[in-house]
Amino acid sequence: MVNYPWTDATQERLREQLQQDRIPHALLLAGAPGLGKEALAEQLAAALLCLQPEEGRACGVCRSCELLRGGAHPDRFRLSPEEGKTQLQVDPVRELLGRLVLTTTISPRKVAVLYPAEAMNINAANALLKNLEEPPGDTVMLLVSHDISRLPITIRSRCQRLQINAPEPEAMAQWLMDQSGQGREPVNLALEASGASPREALAMLEAGDLERYTELQQQLGQLIAKPAQAGPMAAEWADAEPQQLWRWLSLNSALLLRLLLSGTHPSWLRTERELPPNKLAALQQKADSNRNRLGSGLRKDLLLQEWLLEWARLPSSEPIR
Ligand SMILES: [Zn+2]
Repeated sequence: MVNYPWTDATQERLREQLQQDRIPHALLLAGAPGLGKEALAEQLAAALLCLQPEEGRACGVCRSCELLRGGAHPDRFRLSPEEGKTQLQVDPVRELLGRLVLTTTISPRKVAVLYPAEAMNINAANALLKNLEEPPGDTVMLLVSHDISRLPITIRSRCQRLQINAPEPEAMAQWLMDQSGQGREPVNLALEASGASPREALAMLEAGDLERYTELQQQLGQLIAKPAQAGPMAAEWADAEPQQLWRWLSLNSALLLRLLLSGTHPSWLRTERELPPNKLAALQQKADSNRNRLGSGLRKDLLLQEWLLEWARLPSSEPIR
């Protein structure tokens, strides 16, 4: 398992609380994506379920630890949006609450992980709310959130919050070089392409995704003021994993906006024409909203072609639709 050193202090505190049997019923693990919150939640869940924890750590050998490794522990629950969906509906939350009332099977308590908690729609959040102060049947609820501003304040106020903060950029880059065994240049590019998410950057370094990222960036640089190329480019990227593709398009819009505002002209941008910042910002928002609409039945090839066409028309005076 990857170790995220910037979560060490929080882990230490949790181990102390666990040893003193002072773990609250509802914990909110908050912080930007990719900082290792999920790994932290899983570690804590394992320790809470373990039959013979050692100094606040899961022993790794008991029946509970064995079942967790096998992926099927009867006292451990996890709620996430369904594949391809972004929202967590009320029905699965109700079903979970129903199962938490039952007695534990082997562990001293039950643990439910909600990931990410902000995916709950308002009805789901309301259903959970009633159970957060005193969860049924000695349960510990672990809510993991990438963006707590999207969580109802009533939910936040009923949880003990553990805030995970990003390390300094230099420490993050060093960690990525250590983990991946790669040099400064690919590490910097991976941080750019992941929006400074350490876990995502590491995954990209390990999967060799950076070439694709650079290719996309080069093509975006060449597409400006050439609307006729939008169609062929959309066709070329039609098979790309859509979540990542839209994220990259959003990140590149934001990156270009940042560079232009600071007076830097990136080498991949093959135009000297002026690009209006407000249109770039609008395109970034559109990429984000298209990403959130994935799976809603819209033709993703058309969305992509339309977005690329707008990108190609950045230097024109027409507003973004
Ligand atoms: Zn154990």
